Parts: sequence; C-alpha cells; structure tokens
Amino acid sequence: MFRSLREYIANLDEDIRAPEPLYEERLAVCKGCELLLEGMCRSCGCYVELRAAVAKNICPRKKW
Ligand code: SF4
Repeated sequence: MFRSLREYIANLDEDIRAPEPLYEERLAVCKGCELLLEGMCRSCGCYVELRAAVAKNICPRKKW
C-alpha cells in the first residue's frame, strides 16, 4: 500500500503520468472550480490530485 496520494503519483509509470506543468495546470483549474470539495470532485467523486496525475484522464466537466 502507498502511504499517500503523492507517493502513489510519484510511483506512476512515466508513460501514463501527466508531465508536471500539465498536472499543476489541471490542479489550478480544479482549485477554482465550484465542484471541488476537500480535494474531491463532486462531479465524478474522485480525488482530483489522482485524476489529474494520469495524462489520458479528462475533467468530467471538460474544464481540462
Ligand atoms: S475535475 Fe473538473 S469538475 Fe472536477 S473539480 Fe476539477 S475542474 Fe471541477
């Protein structure tokens, strides 16, 4: 088991992990989103840090 989301993300394969600038850009959008609640997206129910960390993922509301 991974001790934290950050540790999990750091261990994602580079082939699937979003590049750092893209990851930060996505999280900045989430931070300004009315659907974010305590790190969780109320549209999809996932932790946005985890969702944003995978390159192929998209925002369920098409904000990124
Ligand atoms: S994933 Fe999309 S809908 Fe969910 S909090 Fe982020 S910007 Fe908002």
